[in-house]
Amino acid sequence: MNLLKDPFISTTDGKVSLKDILTSNKDYQLQYFFDETQLAMLQMLSSLSTVVLKPTAKELNYYLSDGLSAEKYDELLEKVDSKWFESERFMRLAFSSKAKVADAPITKLVSGIECGGSANALGLFSESSKVSVCCPDCTHVLNYNLHMNIKGECFGPTGATGIRGGGSISTLISGENLKSTILLNTICVDYFNEQAHLDDDSESRVMWDCPPISDIYSAPKIGLERGLFALAYYIDFSVSNKQCTCDICGHTAEQSVTTFQRVKFSGAYGSTKKGRDSGAGWWLHPYTPRSVKEDGVYAVCARDQNWQSWQELTSYVIGKDTDKTSVKPAFIINQFQNKLSIDLSLNLLVGGNIADQGSIAGRVYDLYAMPSSLSKNNARISLVIDAGLAQKERLSLAFNKIFGVGYDKNFVGGIKSQAIQKFTSNAQQIIQQILLDVDRKESGFLRKEAIEALNKEAQSIFKSVQRKYQHDLPLFKALVKGEYVLYKADN
Ligand SMILES: [Zn+2]
Repeated sequence: MNLLKDPFISTTDGKVSLKDILTSNKDYQLQYFFDETQLAMLQMLSSLSTVVLKPTAKELNYYLSDGLSAEKYDELLEKVDSKWFESERFMRLAFSSKAKVADAPITKLVSGIECGGSANALGLFSESSKVSVCCPDCTHVLNYNLHMNIKGECFGPTGATGIRGGGSISTLISGENLKSTILLNTICVDYFNEQAHLDDDSESRVMWDCPPISDIYSAPKIGLERGLFALAYYIDFSVSNKQCTCDICGHTAEQSVTTFQRVKFSGAYGSTKKGRDSGAGWWLHPYTPRSVKEDGVYAVCARDQNWQSWQELTSYVIGKDTDKTSVKPAFIINQFQNKLSIDLSLNLLVGGNIADQGSIAGRVYDLYAMPSSLSKNNARISLVIDAGLAQKERLSLAFNKIFGVGYDKNFVGGIKSQAIQKFTSNAQQIIQQILLDVDRKESGFLRKEAIEALNKEAQSIFKSVQRKYQHDLPLFKALVKGEYVLYKADN
């Protein structure tokens, strides 16, 4: 099986190839049981599409507007050294016979599932019995997910940190169908070269063709294709000739896989402390928003269990500067804003794990409607998000009144933080809903609508707390004072 030629992608119409998706007008839907695998698949397919098409911005705009013919795909594929994308080679490197090999069930490649023994790898939320066997085709996306998305700490001392850092958030552009989504996340080589600041002698061969040898993996030396599939482990999957129904994609297969073996790379990327301190530099991973600090560049991660993606949406789309940190949107968002000219309604997909040291505390997989012209209308997004953040702040101020009652700080602090969490979580849906109209409604109206809906939500949460403590006179009186803060001047 070859990933650039053969059908290995699971869809509701059976398995199809990358060429099938990119060159037909059929509306294929990916079929993977976990949103985590679905997200990894979108990243991997867009990266594979980059390998075949290697488009300039002009060419990508053409493929988006006029389509890509099967003949053109074949013509472009001829220029690619496709043997590196054969299934037994893709993203795989044999470990030396002397290496200490870590062996694990494939369950570990879906990070929402707990099966780790280390004290630091728990708190996951699906049952491990849900994934015990997969088809050989699905090993590729699981392997990709391990290298790009799963935090090394989830594997204890045998875990490695890849080129994107551990547990980083991904942002992708989501088009009207699978084909346009993959094209919209395909990287324009001319724009990438302009932005990535690579050295003239950067290595573009993939790492399973030409493994890195130094201790520090210097970012300017890593070419586009090498970086898109950068390895952090020597890895192998043992395939047995036993029929299975795949727990990842649901298809039946003649062969099956239940375990994988790995040995981590000994060098460090600029995404790690060692790499940063040694000046490896940040490799411009196209799907990763990043924060630029005095001591280096970090991938944006979600660490708090109660975190909701709407709070950071403005920085993912436009960027945000504070005193010490500047958050930059992912390259792919900038590419869309600056280089692509299409008139379609689009969504922004924000996905990833919420990681806390070695544990995965939650999952993010949120879609936001975006204005068709991101460069012209992105101010509308910030208006809505700012309304949400202002309302959250006001709710917090309203609850601060209960700290003056003289009760135990943990007790009143608990009341407050529970209410704020509830607001943050409910606001997620409200904001996604309001942004559905981002193209149709004018900004003043959009802002007013956001303020009204979010204020109503904050008031309803506040009222339910008031009701709960109506017989506790000191607390109730403090809440009445807080109510004033919440209700005053809404605009
Ligand atoms: Zn499968």
